[in-house]
Amino acid sequence: MKNNFDEYIKKFDTQVQKYIPPKENWTPSDHAVYGVKDFFRIPIKEAQELQFKAIKYQFKNHYENNKMYYGFCKEMKITPDNIKSYIDLEKIPLIPGEFYKDYPNGKDFALWLANIFTGDIPQVKIKGKDPNFDDVINSFNATGLVVAYSSGTSGRHTFIPRDRKTFDISEYAIAKAAITMTYPIYNYHMKGYLLMPNPFKTNVFAGKVCTIYYDAISEVTAAIDREINTEVIKLSMTGTGGFKAKLVQKYLSRMTKKIVNNIIKFLEKNSKEKNDIVFAGAPFFLYAVTKKLMEQGRSFDFSDKCAILTGGGWKVHEDSRITVEKFRKQMQDVLGVKPEHCVDLYGMVEGNGWMIQCPEGHYLHIPYAYYHPMVLDDEFKPIGFNKSGRFAFLDGTTYSYPGFIISGDKVKMLEHCPVCDRPGPVLEPEVTRAAGKEMRGCAEEVRRMISMDIGDE
Ligand SMILES: [Zn+2]
Repeated sequence: MKNNFDEYIKKFDTQVQKYIPPKENWTPSDHAVYGVKDFFRIPIKEAQELQFKAIKYQFKNHYENNKMYYGFCKEMKITPDNIKSYIDLEKIPLIPGEFYKDYPNGKDFALWLANIFTGDIPQVKIKGKDPNFDDVINSFNATGLVVAYSSGTSGRHTFIPRDRKTFDISEYAIAKAAITMTYPIYNYHMKGYLLMPNPFKTNVFAGKVCTIYYDAISEVTAAIDREINTEVIKLSMTGTGGFKAKLVQKYLSRMTKKIVNNIIKFLEKNSKEKNDIVFAGAPFFLYAVTKKLMEQGRSFDFSDKCAILTGGGWKVHEDSRITVEKFRKQMQDVLGVKPEHCVDLYGMVEGNGWMIQCPEGHYLHIPYAYYHPMVLDDEFKPIGFNKSGRFAFLDGTTYSYPGFIISGDKVKMLEHCPVCDRPGPVLEPEVTRAAGKEMRGCAEEVRRMISMDIGDE
């Protein structure tokens, strides 16, 4: 079994070689990601050692090369010398996620990005007197950076500047987490359907981070193939913008019907050709597809030829959520997909940590070798296991910005999965927004982008 798994990961690594730096250049961060075979089966002590080295390495990097963060650490009176062993990690100063939303408009935005960047940001020429966010981001990204964003219902975005190395780690980690937990279903010849915007036509992080999907498997179809920029997101997330917003919504609503029909054609074709398939992205598309199929009294039997990787939130309507269990049951009833091949991922634009459900119990396992999870109380003090609180983390893999962050999500962390035998802590599957925080999540972003009425066809 173990040898088979090693072979399986090796095949994946061969397909995604371009995301892996040459071994002789590996830093402690790279070791914690590329050097481990199964993120979720590393003995605790070994994982903590890797984690300590990676986080300490990045803390020193940001302390020395990020003026903003250096000033913050000075104020908190913490230096790299204070971080001597694993138990000292939680002394590292945390940045509230709101910080990455606190940006100015126009040319000052470029300056703001440069300020939160660790090291020297490439010089860019931004055209025009009054550039918008997309102009600025595209100028930076033309130099090889990957500035990506996510947004909330208020229309404020979270902008995170990743350099190529940081972005490659994020992509590699999300794909490896997914194929590890769905072992042994992955193979290069699978046909993929991306329930997200085309990563090559957007700077939305949830879409962008799926670029690796196109390398890991032979053929991918993207649900949304038009360009998605901050303007489209703003119109769809906030519902403001008058006439223009109405036009965009009307257009998007037509697009929704098209996508649902498209997915049904994809299912028909691959069922006939007996291909292995994999869906990745926002769950509400598949909810809408299976709802339509049920109404037509139709079903498919993909059995162990289909994997479903969802992420980003479980709202299927403006006012309703579907439970993760109900979703899995619906996928099994209508598409024949086994519940163990239907797993949810949890992550965010601010970090490279991808939590993923185990097939046995559907708890969210944490990539413990490079990512230190914490749960905080209202005063931002760590409260450990078994209590609900604010999720925070120390990410040992972000080279270009300090990934030591207090999120806006509410979670409960357990010391061990109650169902499977993988070591390391887990999060309970239902992650919600902390009180007073706006609704966010990549699926929610896409859901709003597409339609206010999906599923009502
Ligand atoms: Zn588990």
